[in-house]
This record gives sequence, C-alpha cells and structure tokens, in this order.
Amino acid sequence: MSDRTDTPNQPVSDETPGARQPVAVLNLRWLILALVLLSVLATLGNSLITAYRVQRDALLDHALQSNSAYAAKVASSLSEFIHSAQNHLRFGADELGKAWGDPSVMRGEALRLQKQDADFNSIAIVDSNAKVLVAYPDALQINGSTLHSNAIRNAIEAKRSFISSAYTSSAGNLVVFISEPVYDAAKRYVGVIGGSVYLREDNALHTLISRHFHHEGTFAFVADQDRQLLFHPDASRIGDTLGWSKTVDAALRGESGSMTVRNYKGVPMLAGYAQVPGAGWAVVAQQPREISLAPLETLMRDVLRGMVPAAVIGFVLIWLGTLLICRPLNQLSLIARQLSAPQATEQLHHVKAWYREAFSIRQAMLAGVQLLQAKLGRLSQQAFADPMTGLANRRAMDEELHALERAGRTYSVLSLDIDHFKRVNDTFGHDKGDLAIKQVAQIMQSHSRAGDLACRAGGEEFLLILPETDIDSARAIAERIRQAIATCDIPTVGHITASIGVATCEHLPITADVVLKKADECLYRAKQGGRNRVEFCPSTASSTPT
Ligand code: GH3
Ligand code: MG
Ligand code: MG
Repeated sequence: MSDRTDTPNQPVSDETPGARQPVAVLNLRWLILALVLLSVLATLGNSLITAYRVQRDALLDHALQSNSAYAAKVASSLSEFIHSAQNHLRFGADELGKAWGDPSVMRGEALRLQKQDADFNSIAIVDSNAKVLVAYPDALQINGSTLHSNAIRNAIEAKRSFISSAYTSSAGNLVVFISEPVYDAAKRYVGVIGGSVYLREDNALHTLISRHFHHEGTFAFVADQDRQLLFHPDASRIGDTLGWSKTVDAALRGESGSMTVRNYKGVPMLAGYAQVPGAGWAVVAQQPREISLAPLETLMRDVLRGMVPAAVIGFVLIWLGTLLICRPLNQLSLIARQLSAPQATEQLHHVKAWYREAFSIRQAMLAGVQLLQAKLGRLSQQAFADPMTGLANRRAMDEELHALERAGRTYSVLSLDIDHFKRVNDTFGHDKGDLAIKQVAQIMQSHSRAGDLACRAGGEEFLLILPETDIDSARAIAERIRQAIATCDIPTVGHITASIGVATCEHLPITADVVLKKADECLYRAKQGGRNRVEFCPSTASSTPT
C-alpha cells in the first residue's frame, strides 16, 4: 500500500497569528541568570555592608577604649611624677627650714634636688618676698633678684604644695612651677622651694607621655586648668590656650572616658580623656577617625579577594543550573514550532523533562501532537476517499497504480461498470441509483483482501487493484464479485448486474496506463458480449459465460 494516509506533502505553517513571537522576546535562561545574579549580588553586597559596619564599629570602639586607657595611663604617670616631685621638694623644704639662711645648705639642697630629680629643668629657693636666694643652674643669673611673676607670688601666698599655671619666666621660658612651702625651725613661714619644668624643652612630660604604648596616629596632649597647652606633639602649640573643647572640659571636671569629637580643624577624632589627680590637668589622647579605620580597607580588600574563587565557582554552578533548567524548555519550544512534523512524538519522548513543570508541558504537548496527527490523518483520508462510498477515489487509485509501477510489482486490475444503470436511475430515481452504487461498492470492498485497493473510478464505474495477483486469481475474484452483484437484492431496485474487464501486468513490462486501457478494453468486450460477464487480457483465454 502507498503511504498516502500519512502526513500530506503540503507543509503545515507554524506562522499562526497566535504563535507569532514578539520581536524582542526575553530569553528565559538570561532572565533566570540575571535574577539569580542580582539576588546573589544583593546578598553579597548586604553581607559586605554588614561586615563593614560591624568591623568599623568594632575598630571605633577599640580605638576609643585604647585612647581612653592611654589618657588614663598618661594621667596616672603625670600624677605619680608630680607626687614624687612634691615629696622630694618637701624633703628639701624640711632640710632648708632647719638652717634657713645658710647659703651652703641652700645651695646644697638645690644641687641635691636637681641631681635627684632630673625631671626639673631648674630649681629655685625663694624667700617670702619673692627674692631668689638660690637658683640652679647658675646660668639663669637670677640669684638675688626679686621675681614678679604672678605664678611665684601665688606660690608664696599659697603657703602649701603648689602647682602653677604655665607662665613665661623672667628668663623667658614657658614653665610650670611646682613648689613646697619652707618653715624655719621656729615654724615661721619663710619662703618656698620649687622646681620648674620648661615646657618648650625636653622635659618630664615628654618622657612620661612617650613611655606609654599607643596606636599609630594616636597622640596625647596635656592642658592645665586654664586650658593652656602644657604638652603637645606639635611643639609650636605648647602654651596656646585652647578654645572650647568637650574632652578637655570633661577631663577638667574630673571625668574620664572617650568620645568622638572634631578637632579645631574640624577633623573627626576618636578621643580618650582623663584628669591628672593632684594637678587637675587634662590629658587627652586622640587619633583621627580615618587612621583608626585604615585597617578596614585592607580587611575588606582581603574579604573581597577571598570571595573571588567562591564567586567564580558559584557563577559556574549558576550557569550550569540555568542550563539544566532551561534545556528541556528550549527543546520543547523548538518542537512546538513543528508539532505537525511526523517525528514530533519521538522528539518529545527524547526530551529529558526532569522537573514537574517541564514534564507536564511535555505530556500536554504529546497529547496535543496525538490529537493533531489524528486530525491530519482524517483530513488526509478524506482527500483520498470517495465521499459517497468510502472507497478510494480516482486520485488514490492513480497514486497506487503508479506506486506499483515504480516498485515493478506484479498486479492485476478489475474494471467494473454497472449494466444499464441509466435505467435504474430512470426507473427508481437518482437516490435509489446511489443506493445501488453504494451496494456495489460494499460488495467490492468485501471481496478485497488486505493490500487490495477498491476504488470508485467515477459514476457507476469501479476499479479493484490487486497487488501480487496473477490473471487467474484476478479472474476468480472478478467472477465472485460479478456473481455477488448479480445475486444481491437491492431494496426497491431489486437485482442489477455488472460487467468486468480484467488485465494484468504479470509478464509484460507495461505501464499502469496500458494495464488500465487493457482492462477497459476487456470491459468493453464484456459489454459487447452481452453484459453481466467477465472478460480478461490477454485475450488468449475465452470470456467466462454467465
Ligand atoms: P451500460 O450498460 O452501457 O453501461 O449502460 P449504462 O446505462 O450504465 O450507461 P452509462 O454507463 O453510459 O451510464 C451511466 C449512468 O450513470 C449515467 C449517469 O446518469 C449515471 N450516474 C453517473 N454517476 C451517478 C451517480 O453518482 N449516481 C447516480 N444515481 N447515477 C449516476
Ligand atoms: Mg458507465
Ligand atoms: Mg453502465
């Protein structure tokens, strides 16, 4: 049999209006990739920002605490220094009191103090009228002179342990004067003995402050109760009086702790502060915020660098993931464009729909393909069938004959024509004529084997194609058909007869047209011979009588 019931040759267009794609349609894979990357980047960015904030806060907190501790240590050291200096001075004052006025004792004490307490840049013994009795070193050349500075006068008037504000001495040095009162043997107040710290030269404050460990970028300064700078790493600022300062003011109030402040240039600083007990000075240790946060940059760079391998692996995994997710959908969409193709079902079975949605789409498409192909099959059948009898039409007949011819197969044909059919029509009407035609068609169909093809050649003419059938078998079949028609009682119409011509291409390499022509000639002979008979070619055999 030919494959005429399969897909027809004309292509089925996939350009249905509903299936037309928009011009700039998004690609699912890129869409998923973009979404996943966006969410990964957002998560990473959020993590980095959080890590940055946590680290920054930790660094700031640590720097504030360190600076607070540093300020406290410096304050404590200064306090110890002052306490020790006052003890030494007090001892000297006691010794002086015992022999007040004795130059050698005074000079001896001054010398001893200067040697014992190298933290003082100079030593002076002054009577209650501010007259310098002894000054050491001698280079000051103030021995015998009367001092007029407020600091000395305040020291004399205090009559107790005294620490002056910073002031410029008569020798032109910026100093702090630490003194103890001297009482003579009769317990009369006679003067003071004191030591000066030269603030603008190397002094005890420098030594003490630099002795403590501190972070890079951290520096400490010391201010007295008048906010005058006693020590500052920038030597040019020593002696300056500070304006309003939150840290200095807090320390001067006796508080200690830390805070973030802006310095006089407006630079944010992380500051610790403390008061020097005994002196009332303020110590502030501070560090620019930017320097405190410098390690953060390196840290974040290291974090980012550490993330690169994970990010690359993650990206590859995401890439492969999107590939795996989109592959079945891509394959399904490609097949969807050619659903009418004969191989669509097989292609659909090859799609690895490994997740539920793709599986459902594939199953739906398989069902759709089956429906479509069944419909196409029906359409194809209609194109090749005679609508009234259901037999093959002339088109199918021609195809079958040419297929047999091309294949070089043996076959026979029966050409059948109903006898005096006009009369049937004329007597019983066209409808009854149709009934007779259908009855003959049914008889022809029932006498066909699988592989035979019963056709309605037109009107009340039929053809039966019998592949692999020799002339004798074909004659026998023709005879059976003739008899079946002749004996069939058609309602209203009654009995009719038919004539049949039989031809075969068994031995001769002849074309289908020639075989048909021969069959028609035989049919003609049968008509001429009286109808209701079978005639066959070659004409060596005689016709079969009715
Ligand atoms: P003969 O024995 O020589 O074949 O005589 P005949 O009357 O059958 O002659 P012919 O074959 O020439 O006439 C065929 C008639 O069949 C002519 C036409 O009216 C009739 N016919 C053709 N097709 C149909 C059809 O589909 N239905 C009906 N009812 N009649 C048809
Ligand atoms: Mg006819
Ligand atoms: Mg006829």
